[in-house]
Amino acid sequence: MSAILEVREVTKTFGGVVANRGISLSVGRGEIVGLIGPNGSGKTTLFNSIVGQHPIDEGSIRFEGREISHLRVGEIARLGLVRTYQQTRVYTRMSCMRNMLISMPHREERLRDLFARFPREAYEEAEMLLDFVGLYPKRNLPAGELSFGQQKLLEFAMALMNRPKMLLLDEPTAGINPTLINGLVDRLLRVNEDLGLTLLVIEHNMRVIMNLARYIYCLAHGELLAEGTPDEIRDDQRVIDAYLGA
Ligand code: ADP
Repeated sequence: MSAILEVREVTKTFGGVVANRGISLSVGRGEIVGLIGPNGSGKTTLFNSIVGQHPIDEGSIRFEGREISHLRVGEIARLGLVRTYQQTRVYTRMSCMRNMLISMPHREERLRDLFARFPREAYEEAEMLLDFVGLYPKRNLPAGELSFGQQKLLEFAMALMNRPKMLLLDEPTAGINPTLINGLVDRLLRVNEDLGLTLLVIEHNMRVIMNLARYIYCLAHGELLAEGTPDEIRDDQRVIDAYLGA
């Protein structure tokens, strides 16, 4: 399977702290890949590097064969590579619909003209995606009136508005109640199968990631500790030790 994302020997330091050291990973087009590791192991830093939130010190990041490590967030989003955040970033006083409409890659421009110039298709797309995540009945409510879990579903729908080719999801199930978790996992599987969307997912809920991902990378202390299928990762003593703090 051809890789849509190729990370090669990426190193990122903050002052004296090496957050990522020589990390290489590859995600095939249409795959769901997991990224796990204890707190502080470097997962978020790697996400930030991939989507252009900060420059990397060394290495290469290729998306669809093109080097993107020098590009900025907006430019990378326009190529079809988008991330979500552990904490939601919805505009709480705006309606769900409005959040959807301004969630384009060129968000800054959209903020300037807000509602005025959205084409009809954007409304239809927004309504369709709100329906997909089960929030259509709440489309006119301020996003701040949604529960935390619903806000995460909204954010997921907002990320889909960009019609990305690949989504980086940062702990999609954190803080969500078990009923919504199952619904979210179903939807992730559906966007993967129906739309062919490639997913790279940071997830602490082992049951979720083992069911979702077909391949998993595990970081520890900023380095790649192990990689393999869920079964291989589950039985890997290094992974178990890393989580137990050994
Ligand atoms: P994880 O997402 O796996 O919890 P992080 O990528 O957040 O790990 O953190 C990896 C390491 O990098 C930690 O030691 C963290 O303190 C450090 N780090 C991350 N971001 C910054 C930053 N902006 N400035 C300084 N240190 C940082």
